[in-house]
Amino acid sequence: MREDTTFLRIVQGQAPADVVYQDDLVTAFRDIRPQAPTHILIVPNVLIPTLNDVRPEHEPALGRMMTVAAKVAAQEGIAEKGYRLISNCNRHGGQEVYHLHMHLVGGHALGPMLERR
Ligand code: 5GP
Repeated sequence: MREDTTFLRIVQGQAPADVVYQDDLVTAFRDIRPQAPTHILIVPNVLIPTLNDVRPEHEPALGRMMTVAAKVAAQEGIAEKGYRLISNCNRHGGQEVYHLHMHLVGGHALGPMLERR
């Protein structure tokens, strides 16, 4: 199973990051290479490599990721105008870090969601 401990180290405070929210289940921090004025990553505090590895016992953390996304969007002042939540899975999905995460992006109008290559 492909795993990446980069985000786990951030969750555990062992690697630097601009953390904007943390609780017992999830952590949210600013993306190191922002693609929009607001670009925050929301991750479960346990290492789930990809969406394919999600199990019923992860549902509390996954649900929390959604409520935290809305909370952080409000905190960032982008809730009213809107934003996008994205989770990439594996190579065709463009996943780079193998610790499940949601990108919260906003702060300006976003283009079409899907890009053809
Ligand atoms: P993916 O392509 O896996 O969906 O997205 C991974 C994201 O993590 C990318 O947007 C990348 O800029 C971000 N990223 C990778 N390494 C780090 C890191 O060490 N710290 C932070 N804050 N973001 C990272």
